[in-house]
Amino acid sequence: MATELLTRPAPGLQTFIPELVYFEPDALNYPKGQKIMEWAEQNGLPIRMTSSHNRITNLPGESELEKYRIAKRTLVVGIRKTLKFDQSMPSAEYAIPIATGCMAHCHYCYLQTTLGAKPYIRVYVNMDDILNAAQGYLDERAPEITRFEAACTSDPVGLEHITGSLQEAIAFMAKQPLGRLRFVTKFHHVEPLLNVEHNGNTRIRFSVNADYVIKNFEPATSSFLDRIEAAGKIARAGYPLGFIIAPIIWFEGWEEGYAELLNKLKATVPPEAEKTMTFELIQHRFTKTSKRVILERYPKTKLEMDEAKRKYKWGRWGQGKYVYPDEQATALREFITEQIFEKFPQSSIDYFT
Ligand code: SF4
Repeated sequence: MATELLTRPAPGLQTFIPELVYFEPDALNYPKGQKIMEWAEQNGLPIRMTSSHNRITNLPGESELEKYRIAKRTLVVGIRKTLKFDQSMPSAEYAIPIATGCMAHCHYCYLQTTLGAKPYIRVYVNMDDILNAAQGYLDERAPEITRFEAACTSDPVGLEHITGSLQEAIAFMAKQPLGRLRFVTKFHHVEPLLNVEHNGNTRIRFSVNADYVIKNFEPATSSFLDRIEAAGKIARAGYPLGFIIAPIIWFEGWEEGYAELLNKLKATVPPEAEKTMTFELIQHRFTKTSKRVILERYPKTKLEMDEAKRKYKWGRWGQGKYVYPDEQATALREFITEQIFEKFPQSSIDYFT
């Protein structure tokens, strides 16, 4: 097992460099906006101004697919105006908005539909306003603990070398006896986070999956090995560590695939991290709309989205989603849960959904 794990297939994924950067003019009134401008200039990136991200309509690209690919590599630097945070159950009470959009191409990603026609990446320079709003929610809920999820609309670790926003949020939360920050990532670029004072108030989770899922459905993310090495660094930096296994997919050989995943985690995660480690388990789901968008954007995807093989689950906002039928969902849950308890008896499972 160890030798197999040490076989690195290719050089690690490079940090993200956008192909095009837009600035909303007000963003340049903030030090973070000015810093990102300097960074873009130093990297020789094409820079454009836009009065608002909503007005970006002329992204390059011949076809819709090409436009989509370029949009995923376009950065928009602006101000977060909506400071009302969305709810983020079951992983946290609130979503803290530090970025929107992602440069990776996971076929199943729910951002496909939530961001709709605007798949470009937005980062926000007014972190003080965002953290002040977080303070408001903390005060409102005291003496309860309030958890904030920073990866609801993005994968902020992949953008940290550009923004530094996670470092600010981690340092802020370190001083909050009732505040907890959490985020999940498929990137291994954790260096900027390793020396931040976190006081144990931030939990960093890595999204992991069976080889079959990573290989077929997660283009432009860090390799499994790189993610696991990064998880080791995070654990050694004293952060509470977690893993999200999502989406859990029923494929031929899924039992071997998920058993192997847990074996690999066991062989690589520092034992001292196990005690406080958490797992979150999320089965694959899709909606009619997401299926249509995914098939347009990734026409050759092997992602199984046959409504006839799924169970329809009514949603809160009218549109329901397709999940695995009870029998399959139970088999997935029981098998993976047993594997986790067997290999990580000290860790806990937060939820299966
Ligand atoms: Fe979506 Fe996460 Fe994949 Fe980015 S890394 S495309 S946010 S699932």
